[in-house]
Amino acid sequence: MRCPYCKHKDSRVVDTSSDARGGVRRRRECQNCGQRFSTFERPLLASPLIIKQDGTREEFDRDKLIRGIRISCAKRPVSGTVIDRMVGEIESALQAMGRSEVSSRVVGDMVIAGLKDLDLIAYIRYAIVYLGLDDLGAIRDEINRLLEG
Ligand SMILES: [Zn+2]
Repeated sequence: MRCPYCKHKDSRVVDTSSDARGGVRRRRECQNCGQRFSTFERPLLASPLIIKQDGTREEFDRDKLIRGIRISCAKRPVSGTVIDRMVGEIESALQAMGRSEVSSRVVGDMVIAGLKDLDLIAYIRYAIVYLGLDDLGAIRDEINRLLEG
């Protein structure tokens, strides 16, 4: 494993541990500059293709999903770690479905459900964009639903 600090190509494993989801974490030390870093290995399961609203398919893009959620969470007390974890859970849920294709709506609904638990302002922002709440009446109805619930 190449050192991320000095790009030296040899590093020494100083510690190995496993995590609950079957991954292996290795703590490494660069043999050139002595910096330590970790690598994480886990089995790669296939995520289903995402069917977009226009009928085209695309690969599940974890980073794109994270970006969208981060925008909704701007200036809200939601940490990047929490967002990463949520997207990780969504990805696992998609893989666990064992399907080759899944509608983008399924992914959107999972994000919506996750944000609803996390932060209602972020949830409303996401809903406006992804549920297409494009008029004030629809947005007001959704906010009223939240206030009543
Ligand atoms: Zn190094």
